[in-house]
Order: sequence, then structure tokens, then C-alpha cells
Amino acid sequence: MTKEFAGKVALVTGGGSGIGAACARQLADEGAKVVVADMHLEGAQQVVETIKAAGGEAASYQIDVSDPVAVAAMVDFTVTTFGGLDCAVNNAGIGGPLKPIAEYEIDEWRHVIDVNQNSVFYCMKYELQAMLPNGKGSIVNMSSILGTNGIAAAPAYVSAKHALVGMTKSAAIAYSAQGVRINAVAPGYIHTPLVENSLDEESLKALVGLHPIGRLGRADEVANLTLFLLSDRASFITGSYHLVDGAYAAQ
Ligand code: ADP
Repeated sequence: MTKEFAGKVALVTGGGSGIGAACARQLADEGAKVVVADMHLEGAQQVVETIKAAGGEAASYQIDVSDPVAVAAMVDFTVTTFGGLDCAVNNAGIGGPLKPIAEYEIDEWRHVIDVNQNSVFYCMKYELQAMLPNGKGSIVNMSSILGTNGIAAAPAYVSAKHALVGMTKSAAIAYSAQGVRINAVAPGYIHTPLVENSLDEESLKALVGLHPIGRLGRADEVANLTLFLLSDRASFITGSYHLVDGAYAAQ
């Protein structure tokens, strides 16, 4: 049976851990050639090794997505290395300091917005420039349940994730007729080693309690939705926001 992404080239930012790593591995399993881009090069290299060990094709790339010149070079690297760009997952991000808005320092705010929001503009700008001449492509921007819901403690993160929803809509309206579909994925809280190691039992229980399904999500569950949206099976789906959240936002 032909693999769903055979012959396709994919770029995943923040591909060195968590959700991005799961997306990169699944894309490679389904036949895509994948650039695994991350600020943390070692993480990206480990994901590439896993992909190669499973018979897939991938290359690692060190990137700070908040630098537009570096983002342009990352897209060039992808096109030069694998011969094009068909799919992109703009996923790199940080949580930022946890405190309410009046306590946020100006520099802290700018940094979170640079890494989580401006980066996605830079990525889409150059990814679209690579995709549009071919008249096809698909982009997923990794938003969050905090792309529509709020919490007090992470105002810059909440703002940036809301902005990705708007950016996704604007880009989809502009480019869907030219063959490029753009969607946002909105995960609930995902069980990662970071969550496991940084939260005590009580905080973890409280976090789980926010999800009516009764547990946190898994990175591969977010990747499942992301791959569907990137695939040709989602050919009429563009410009929308897709929850994968165990009913968090249903409340
Ligand atoms: P999640 O659970 O959302 O996957 P992670 O923290 O595991 O969260 O993944 C986010 C990824 O984004 C990490 O691999 C991290 O190194 C990467 N990242 C963070 N900031 C940047 C940046 N400025 N440029 C590129 N990658 C980044």
C-alpha cells in the first residue's frame, strides 16, 4: 500500500521534542522526507536518528524561529535538501513566565510573542513563497486550547495562541484558492516528561481535572489530527481551528 505522504517533503519546527517530535516521526512513517528543526539541536538529531532507524528519511536543522533571516534560511535548506516543500507544522514555542499581566516585564512579553507568534508569521511567509509556485501545500499552525480560552497566569502565551488562530484564518482566505490549505490545531494539556517532572501529584491531578475525559493528552494524539489536516483527505478543510482536548473547551 502506498504511504500517505510518499514523495512529500515536510518541515516541522520544534520537532526535537513533544508534539513536534511525534508529528515528525508520524510524517516520516507515512513516507515524507522530514526536516526536524529545533533550537535544541541534540533533540532534533535524536528524532532524526529514530526516524532513520525505522527506515525513514530526515534531516535535523538548528533554528531560532524568532529570527526571520534564520527562518528564510531554514525553508531554503528544506527545499535544497529534499527538493521542495509540501507540508509544514509551525509548532516551536515556549510557555513563558507564569504570572498575570500587570506583573509581566516588557522584555518577557516581547520574547514570548517573538517565539510563539511572530515566528509563525515568518514561517508562513517563507513556506508560502516555497509552496505557491507549485500550486499546492498544507500548513498546520500549533495553537492551543488557550487559542480561544484564557488563563490568568500566561497572558503572553494566551495572546500569541489567539493570534495564531487569526493568522491562520487570514492566510487561508488569501491562499486556499491557490492550492495551499492552512489550519490551526488546538491541543489540551499534553502529558510530556516536562509535565511529569515539573508538577507535584496534586498539581497534576488538578490539571487532569480540567479535562472531562479524565486524563491529559498524548503527543501522538495531536500528531494524528495534524497529519489528517496535512493530508489530501482534508482537501476541503482550511482556515479553521481544530480542538484535540478531551473536552476541555467544551465546558
Ligand atoms: P510541547 O509539549 O508543546 O511539544 P515542548 O517544549 O516539548 O512542548 O516542545 C517545544 C519545542 O520547541 C522544543 O523542542 C523546543 O526546543 C522548541 N523551541 C522552543 N523555542 C524555540 C525557538 N525559539 N526556536 C526553535 N525551536 C524552539
